[in-house]
Amino acid sequence: MTSPRILTNFVAGEHVPPRMGGYLDDVAPATGAVIARVPASTEEDVDTAVAAAKGAFAYPWSHTSSAERADLLDAVAAVIDRRCDELAELESRDTGKPIKLASTVDIPRAAANFRFFAGAVRHDATDAHVMDGVALNYTLRKPLGVAGLVTPWNLPIYLLSWKVAPALAMGNTVVAKPSEMTPLTATALAEIFAEVGAPPGVFNVIHGTGAEAGEAIIGHEDVAAVSFTGGTKTGKRVAAVAAPAFKKLSLELGGKNPTIVFADADIDEAVEGAVRAGFLNQGQVCLCGSRILIEKKVAARFEEAFVARVTAMRVGDPADPATELGALISLAHREKVEGYIALAKEEGGTIAAGGGRPSLPDALAGGAFVEPTVVTGLAPTCRTATEEIFGPVVTLHSFEDEAEALELANGVRYGLCASVWTQNLARAHRVSAALETGMVWVNSWLLRDLRVPFGGMKDSGVGREGGRYSLEFFSESRNVCIKM
Ligand code: NAD
Repeated sequence: MTSPRILTNFVAGEHVPPRMGGYLDDVAPATGAVIARVPASTEEDVDTAVAAAKGAFAYPWSHTSSAERADLLDAVAAVIDRRCDELAELESRDTGKPIKLASTVDIPRAAANFRFFAGAVRHDATDAHVMDGVALNYTLRKPLGVAGLVTPWNLPIYLLSWKVAPALAMGNTVVAKPSEMTPLTATALAEIFAEVGAPPGVFNVIHGTGAEAGEAIIGHEDVAAVSFTGGTKTGKRVAAVAAPAFKKLSLELGGKNPTIVFADADIDEAVEGAVRAGFLNQGQVCLCGSRILIEKKVAARFEEAFVARVTAMRVGDPADPATELGALISLAHREKVEGYIALAKEEGGTIAAGGGRPSLPDALAGGAFVEPTVVTGLAPTCRTATEEIFGPVVTLHSFEDEAEALELANGVRYGLCASVWTQNLARAHRVSAALETGMVWVNSWLLRDLRVPFGGMKDSGVGREGGRYSLEFFSESRNVCIKM
């Protein structure tokens, strides 16, 4: 047995212990083993980190050119690429996700995020509005100061880099708090910033709980902007703390996303797409399609193929490259997911696939595994079909026509994304426009272009990230009007 690694915060370019000396356990979800001790940081740690970030913002970071900042981001991306295998191993161990997913999606995407925003800021331009013969307006885009970034456990370095890169690109400095359940890759990212010679204080990491370290960052008077990704309930709390201080606020929250399959779709492709959307990362992606709505004419055919495909999915050791589904984030989360499977039965549902725990080798006996689960026969309005489960559980429902499909799709409090499967181009446009979601994929799911607006409507959040939307969020647009 190796003893757990003791993690540190990263403040002013130094790896430092929490000032009050408290630690939390970091548990590997696949085995239940404690793999690290995470600083349980307090307000004192946050104060030091924010002071370091404020100092680094005053000098040198807000005086650097966008080209210099872009070069730093490119250097970070290069080290992430170089350390890809090691980072993927850390991410897989910390989250329970399959190593294949971590090494082909999470880590390459983190590098891509840094490289993308380096390019974006190099090519950024601002507006000019000419009042003919009268005046010229031009827009100045200024950094905000210290950005507080709070991120969840499902895509740890992927989502952290999605915020850090644009914040730094625009000339802000950062205090980041990763989820206390998945601290390993944020710690590695701190090492990478040190290695590439980032000025001390530009990038700081504070570990700890949301209630203590997270709230201290969000409420800190010297934190000018807050970008938060996490659950809707937490988002409400974050808004309540940040809004009275008039901080800029971006909230990327939960989802209960529909996959809508029309009879004119390529059904084989739709089945593959729906399986991926339902179960990627054990269903723990905010964008996962957990409600599958199928036109009645093809419902039986779709269900048969879908259930067969889900039943054949390989659940097991995240370290095995052949594994399709690893462990859920924790035993507590498994309990929540299993609670929804029990609720589905109470609500009259039939378990068409999965529903239990897989039989796995002894080494994984303490892991938080659940079989990929398909529920049929539920009313589309019941709790199982409308609340975010954030696990490998999908419900199947059928609809008569386009109007009913839209009614079911829009009949939830969430509005993050939707995936629509149809060969009818006019329908694709019509349905996409009528869906109450921030994003729609047609004949695909999670096909990402980093330039497009990313974010949700309704209870799925406020604000947009991605491309120029991120650059705008992490800066203040100021107009200068010069009379001719
Ligand atoms: P969570 O809300 O429990 O935690 C997210 C982060 O917020 C963690 O770092 C946590 O420590 C911190 N936090 C908790 N309470 C806080 C408080 N009072 N003040 C400040 N920070 C606090 O979410 P989670 O369980 O880590 O992640 C799963 C949720 O995230 C799901 O609902 C999922 O849909 C959502 N999510 C959304 C997106 C998106 O882009 N919309 C992406 C990924 C995950």
